[in-house]
Amino acid sequence: MSSDHHRRDTCRLCGSRRLPLVLALAPTPPANAFVPASALDRPQERFPLDVFFCEDCAHVQLLDVVDARVLFEHYVYVSGTSPVFVRHFESYAAFVMERFRPPAGGLVLDIGSNDGTLLSFFAKAGMRVLGIDPAREIAADATRRGIETLCGFFGPDLAVEIVAGRGKAAIVTANNVFAHIDDLGGVAEGVRGLLSPDGVFVFEVSYLADVVRDTLFDTIYHEHLDYHSVKPLVGFFKAHGMELIEAIRVDSHGGSLRGIAQLKGGPRKVGDSVATALAEEERLGLDKAGTFRAFARDIDALGAELSGLLKRLKAEGKRIAGFGAPAKATTLMYHFGIGPELVDFIVDDSPLKQGLFTPGMHVPVLSSAALAERKPDYLVILAWNFARPIIDKNAAFAAAGGRFIIPIPKVEVV
Ligand SMILES: [Zn+2]
Repeated sequence: MSSDHHRRDTCRLCGSRRLPLVLALAPTPPANAFVPASALDRPQERFPLDVFFCEDCAHVQLLDVVDARVLFEHYVYVSGTSPVFVRHFESYAAFVMERFRPPAGGLVLDIGSNDGTLLSFFAKAGMRVLGIDPAREIAADATRRGIETLCGFFGPDLAVEIVAGRGKAAIVTANNVFAHIDDLGGVAEGVRGLLSPDGVFVFEVSYLADVVRDTLFDTIYHEHLDYHSVKPLVGFFKAHGMELIEAIRVDSHGGSLRGIAQLKGGPRKVGDSVATALAEEERLGLDKAGTFRAFARDIDALGAELSGLLKRLKAEGKRIAGFGAPAKATTLMYHFGIGPELVDFIVDDSPLKQGLFTPGMHVPVLSSAALAERKPDYLVILAWNFARPIIDKNAAFAAAGGRFIIPIPKVEVV
């Protein structure tokens, strides 16, 4: 085991040690660790990608924690670059403002604020805003553009500092980061210290119910330590002097949960969404380890089908490329054994990734101009959650006889 990684032995939400392994995915390097040509001769370390189930609170999680500095220091994902996410954050801010009507000029704090996109909409609505993000360059850039952003990891100490300097917060948000932090108890304690008595904590996370139902196993990678469901979160917030009051389904990232919590004894009553989610989770068996063992078998069947198809096409002399190089492609490629011997190159519309090579397997990432130049016969859509817009945008590829392969939630050739 390297110094860049450790394995914890307690549940991140309830502290239990009764944690059977339910799903062993192939070990991978960090899913966003794309490399330049100059670093291709340096092997990249792979870390275990094992999923554990808590027998006490039913929380599903990784126990292998890769050092956050290794994962996030050179983070290339910037939310403002994707129009889909900009619109999502705009409606998110509007939802919070309408639903909770915070006092004008009240403080909104975003944990893991990235480039400040969400906060910019709260600022436009007349709120004071503050971002927190560990990625140094992204934080500095957001501050320069008028969204003040502290560079650091959020916890109780930082919360005390913020309250001393700016008072308590009306709204605290955390999106797609509540699954990224090993010390979730510390985050909850920090949020509890920050919130004004009638304040709310709003967070979005990938939802385990969607992951299981749609076989979204490739959303499992080292940055995502936790696969949240409502039942374990209810107990978790209770243990930290808070109360989960809403559990709303939203469709970002292939299916997410928007949770809302207040301080214990806060002014709002628990919404029906919580009971509805709990009933649905029970129906799906999310509180049973066996559900995830069956999930593991489904994934392996999907992988055998996809790699079988690609090997057959390759044997027929077809040329195969990938479309989209999201982090989740790393999990999919490793677990299904899809490397440079099957996929010649990957195209991605993000200039930040073009010219780099995929983590570990080192498949080149090119701009979509490569499709016209190299004329592959098949395109595997690794960014499957954008399959429809990708197919629409690449009509010329299809018109020239090219075909698309959608790998998830089931293998489809179109
Ligand atoms: Zn637990």
